[in-house]
Order: sequence, then C-alpha cells, then structure tokens
Amino acid sequence: MKDNCIFCEKELNMMQKKKLYCGHSTQTVCADCYRRYKELNSVERAEAALNTGRAEDEEKIREYLDPIREMEKAKAEKQKAQDEQRKSGKSCLRCGADMLDYGDVTFKLGEETFFFSDMNRLASGSLTMKVLRCQSCGKAEFYIPDAEQLEKAAEQNKN
Ligand SMILES: [Zn+2]
Ligand SMILES: [Zn+2]
Repeated sequence: MKDNCIFCEKELNMMQKKKLYCGHSTQTVCADCYRRYKELNSVERAEAALNTGRAEDEEKIREYLDPIREMEKAKAEKQKAQDEQRKSGKSCLRCGADMLDYGDVTFKLGEETFFFSDMNRLASGSLTMKVLRCQSCGKAEFYIPDAEQLEKAAEQNKN
C-alpha cells in the first residue's frame, strides 16, 4: 500500500490518509489535497489524478476518461463543422473575428397579461430576428426582417 498523497507526495500515516474517488478508482490523498480536489468535477479530478503519474489503478481512470474524451472530441468537431456552416462572411465590428449566422430566432416578448387573450399574445408578443454572433467576443447583431412585427411589439410596450 502506498502511503504518500498522490498529489503533493506528502508522507501520510494511517491517521492522515484520506481516500478520494477519482474516475472509477480510489486514491490516497492528504487532508489538504482532499479538500482541494473534491471541489473539482469528477472529470477534472480524474484527469488531475492521472496527470500526477502516481495514481493507483491508472487503467481504471483511463477507462473512465477515454469515452468522455472521445465524446468531447466528437462534440467539439461537430460544433466546429456547424460554426463553419454558419460563417456569414461578415466580420465583427468590434474585434474583426467571423460573425456566425444563427438564422431567424423568435423571441417571446413581455409578460402574459390578462388584457390580452392568448391569440393576441401570440400575434403581438414575439419578434423574429436574424441573429449574427461574433465567434470570438460574443458581440451580436440583430436584423428584423418584419417591420410590422416590431411595430406591434413597440405598440404593446406603450400600453
Ligand atoms: Zn496532498
Ligand atoms: Zn467580436
């Protein structure tokens, strides 16, 4: 049995040893590292344990992490492909990065009030805007294709 903290390598006696669950395995840690690392989410904790090169049952940690890493990689690739498709050819006025086109997004406006029937609310309480968002700084631009909808929304705000 190892009796050093896997993170800080501090030597631990029986009383000081703590067990921390890291990705399908239990690791020996000191009280300080226990407090520090239990704050991480389980993926970060498993990665931190593996990165020490001193973890017990490294195989188990890898078995836990590999499918998660695969999934994250696939997700990132999908997102990248989607962003690629969304490129609008416009650049951000603030930072110059690519503006991504999210197409028409319908925003619901205002609160439901008892003055309006549901039909009225549906007719006047939403606004469709074409949304462009900067990939880098998040600055957004909105285009409103239907001026009449905006007219109604502005009217509703006055009431
Ligand atoms: Zn420690
Ligand atoms: Zn920007």
